[in-house]
Amino acid sequence: MRKHIVAGNWKMNNGLIQTETLIVELKKQEKTSDAEVMIAPTFTNLWHAFQSAKQSGIEVIAQNMHFAENGAYTGEISAGMLKSIGIQTVILGHSERRAYFNETDESLAKKVDAALANGMRVIFCFGEELSDRKSGNEEIIVESQLKNALFHLSTDAFKHIVLAYEPVWAIGTGETATPDQAQTMHAFIRKTIAEKYGNDVADSISILYGGSVKPSNAKEIFSKPDVDGGLIGGASLKAEDFFAIVNAF
Ligand code: PEP
Repeated sequence: MRKHIVAGNWKMNNGLIQTETLIVELKKQEKTSDAEVMIAPTFTNLWHAFQSAKQSGIEVIAQNMHFAENGAYTGEISAGMLKSIGIQTVILGHSERRAYFNETDESLAKKVDAALANGMRVIFCFGEELSDRKSGNEEIIVESQLKNALFHLSTDAFKHIVLAYEPVWAIGTGETATPDQAQTMHAFIRKTIAEKYGNDVADSISILYGGSVKPSNAKEIFSKPDVDGGLIGGASLKAEDFFAIVNAF
């Protein structure tokens, strides 16, 4: 059976005190689902969050990393550095990274390689813009993102990828893809993986949906057969809301 995963992307929110306060609140929540729970605080709070969340069942993960192992990349963080403080999973390719920091499928392919070479798990984000969907090109875009950033991987390497389909028009906008739109795209993504890596691999890969998931819509979205969890932005900043989503499975 595929893993259910609910990951909270805190983005550039929460200083040290707020990070600790939110983790304390998260640890008080009751978990009634089988979903793996992850939170992605900012770089400066990763070490503290990692220590604070130890033994809570909440995995602390990173929002980004550079592809180089070290060197003259001022302001950047490497996979080895994340590993050195215990971080095992990294989000790559978030649409905000693509839009504001010029990340491309080509640079993301290098980041994916570096993360996997360091034994990390990758949550790879991708998804179409509103204009792509309006012009009916959403599947072409999604397929090309997958192929360009990930399909150079061996079958064994690909198994360490978790996919997060995030239509850009639904991120932070309050507008959610309908459960049927999410299911249609997730099924297409799984078919595309099956064509490259075979049915067994395609059936084993968790595909998360991201884009304005809230306590009020999570259950319906997660009820779709190809939706294996969620990448949650805004609603992950409130412990009760986040766990209402976790428990929607
Ligand atoms: C995200 O940042 O990945 C995201 C899905 O944000 P939101 O839930 O706020 O739309």
